[in-house]
Amino acid sequence: MWDDKRYHTLNYELKKIFGEKTVKLSIDGNFTCPNRDGTIGKKGCIFCSERGSGDFTSDRNKSITEQIVEQKQIMSNKWISSTYIAYFQNYTNTYDTVENLRIKFYEALNNKDIKGIAIATRPDCINEEIAELLKEINSKTFLWVELGLQTIHDKTAKFLRRGYDLIQFDKAIRLLKSKNIRTVVHLIIGLPYETSEKILESVKYVSDLNVWGIKLHMLHIIKNTDLEHYYLKKSFHLMSQEEYVNIICDSLELINPDIVIHRITGDGKKSDLVAPKWTLNKLKVLSEIDRNLKERQSFQGKKAVL
Ligand code: SF4
Repeated sequence: MWDDKRYHTLNYELKKIFGEKTVKLSIDGNFTCPNRDGTIGKKGCIFCSERGSGDFTSDRNKSITEQIVEQKQIMSNKWISSTYIAYFQNYTNTYDTVENLRIKFYEALNNKDIKGIAIATRPDCINEEIAELLKEINSKTFLWVELGLQTIHDKTAKFLRRGYDLIQFDKAIRLLKSKNIRTVVHLIIGLPYETSEKILESVKYVSDLNVWGIKLHMLHIIKNTDLEHYYLKKSFHLMSQEEYVNIICDSLELINPDIVIHRITGDGKKSDLVAPKWTLNKLKVLSEIDRNLKERQSFQGKKAVL
C-alpha cells in the first residue's frame, strides 16, 4: 500500500512530496536542555546520552552552514539525492530566546539545498511566541516538530525523569496544531516494567491525537547513562527481538494509516550500546517486521478505530 511496505513510511511520504529520496541531515543547534541545566533537573532523562540523544551530529561549535556541508558529505556515501531536511536533533531545539532560534533556523532555511526543517524539542519548551515563529517558518518551508513523549504513563515518566506531565504534552500538541504545524511523537518501546498492554495504550493515545508522524524505538541502554547503572544493578527484562517485532506489529495495526511512521528501529552508536545488541542489525529487525505483518495478513491501521 505504501510502495512495498505494509506501513506508511517516512521514505514513502517524503518521496511523494519532494519527488525523490529525501535525506535528513543531523544538525546540532548548540542548545541545552532545561532537564539538564538545572531549570527542571540536572541529571536529564535517565536514558539520555552525553550528546543529548543525538549522536551522529557534527561538532556543535561549527556553524549551521558548516554542519550542513559536512553532513551532506557524510550522507553522500549512503544516498544520492539533492533534497535535504535540516534536522535539529540533539538537546532541546526550542530552548532559547525567539531571536536566537530565529537566527539558527533561518540559517538552515536560507541554505539553497535545504527543502525542509525538522525540530526536536520538549512540550514544555514551546510557548505562544515560539509557536508563532514555527508557524512563520512553516509558511516558508516544509516543517515538522518532534516531541519526545516516550510513554503516557505517569509512573514510567517519573522513572524516566522526563520532567513534564501529559497535560503539558497535550497542551503543546494543541498549540502546534492550532498553528497547522506537523507534529511527530516519539515513544520508547520496552521501558522497564511496562507491559504490552501499557505500551499499546501509549500508541493508541498518540494515534488518536492524529499527529502527523510517530517514531517508535526500542529502549537502548547507552554507556555512561544512569539507565546503564540501573540496568546493571537491577537487570530488568529487556525485550527480545521477537517480542519487539510482535509489539511493533501490534502497534502498527492500531495506528491510523494516515500517520507517517518515522522510525520503528533505534539508531544508536554501536560503540555506545550496552544492550540489547540485537538492535544493531536494523535490516534484520525491519525484515522480521515485514515478515510478521505478512504472516498476519496485516498492515498499519488494520485495527484502528477511524
Ligand atoms: S529532554 Fe531530551 S535532551 Fe533533555 S534530558 Fe531528556 S532526552 Fe536528554
